[in-house]
Amino acid sequence: MQADNTTIKNAVLNHDQWDRDHLWHPYTSTIDPLPTYKVDHAEGVNLYLADGTKLIDGMSSWWAVIHGYNNRRINKAIESQLKKMSHVMFGGLTHEPAIELGKKLLSIAPPSMNNIFYADSGSVAVEVAMKMAVQAAVSRSGSHDKTNFVTIRSGYHGDTWNAMSVCDPVTGMHGAFGSALPVRYFVPQPSVPFGGEWSDSEMKPLEDCLRENASQIAAMILEPVVQGAGGMWFYHPEYLRQARRLCDKYGIYLIFDEIATGFWRTGKRFAWEHAGVEPDIMCIGKGLTAGYMTSSAVLTTKDVADTISRGEAGVMMHGPTFMGNPLACAVAVESIKILEEEDMESKIAHISAIMTEELAAARGLDSVADVRILGSIGVVEMKENVNVATFQVECVKRGVWIRPFGRNVYIMPPYVIDDEDLRTLCRQMISIIKETL
Ligand code: PMP
Repeated sequence: MQADNTTIKNAVLNHDQWDRDHLWHPYTSTIDPLPTYKVDHAEGVNLYLADGTKLIDGMSSWWAVIHGYNNRRINKAIESQLKKMSHVMFGGLTHEPAIELGKKLLSIAPPSMNNIFYADSGSVAVEVAMKMAVQAAVSRSGSHDKTNFVTIRSGYHGDTWNAMSVCDPVTGMHGAFGSALPVRYFVPQPSVPFGGEWSDSEMKPLEDCLRENASQIAAMILEPVVQGAGGMWFYHPEYLRQARRLCDKYGIYLIFDEIATGFWRTGKRFAWEHAGVEPDIMCIGKGLTAGYMTSSAVLTTKDVADTISRGEAGVMMHGPTFMGNPLACAVAVESIKILEEEDMESKIAHISAIMTEELAAARGLDSVADVRILGSIGVVEMKENVNVATFQVECVKRGVWIRPFGRNVYIMPPYVIDDEDLRTLCRQMISIIKETL
């Protein structure tokens, strides 16, 4: 599908020229920016544009808005926290929302997690996790060489410097930043799909890499089971069990980036549960604060935490201004309470079943390479890259909000979506694919 700029501009009724001239949106050109639609307000699973157009949101604002927009319970939690304090520094001070959230997180995290570092965003959580790994690896080994990382191709871990360095070297930011980025060890993307037949040969590249380079490597970092923005790929959980074994064998820490996969998105509370293997360090974000505000957390074991504390610096070397922000902690506590009150496993299985039924219509289409569903994530992988601007014009015409990336057209709606809206979302997605791609 070719981008026709006039069609796009004419179709964008909610266009704001000042915004176009002055505001940078994610990954956009200032010379020829992608169109943006002005949202007036949002409620439940719906976005309402400035001209009154109502859209069913298929993106949960990039995985985050798990309980829907303008959620009464979360609003109330913010309001009551706001009356006490919206923020207070975390250096030398603490507060009930941080403690309550910490207790909740440890009650739902892998059992070996013991220490929590609150950070500002997903990318910063990845930076913190990588710093933890380096500090702990150097302290444990006594070697200042043990500071590099190994990861799998097609990953995505965020846009800050170290996070970029472990994103996929082709689809990630390596091209733009070249030698400015630290050079990491990359092994192939796990090729056995989720639900496929496991083969031990899958682990050979990782074993070869670790055998040769373990003395230089602090940790392996990966997104467990679901690779998100790097390719929307679902791989076999056995990979995680084997990776854990190899990391232990070669003295490497294992970091799970659960920023996108956490809080039931894949059908389990966290994706590590598909494999039953625990990481040494785990990053969470996005759904943590239900899409209300930016916040993240890095969890680790007592062993890693104490190893850092026994190291040269004697402390964990990070401390952002908004660490442990009370408003964010209060939101996260309420969000987790909502999840705890529901049978989430059944709820996500229900969403999954409807997606599986509806998206089957894309199988066999000439333009479609693959259709895959896991938990509340539905992906239609196309054979060619999708033109985002023209696809979104069609979405807005049809009352849905989907933002394709590369060859993938995918949805991960808020969990509060009802069956009728979910079927409409899937059917409109298929109709755009059939009629325009
Ligand atoms: N890790 C993963 C797996 C992600 O999907 C993302 C965001 N898409 C990040 C890290 C970065 O998070 P943030 O955008 O909040 O910095």
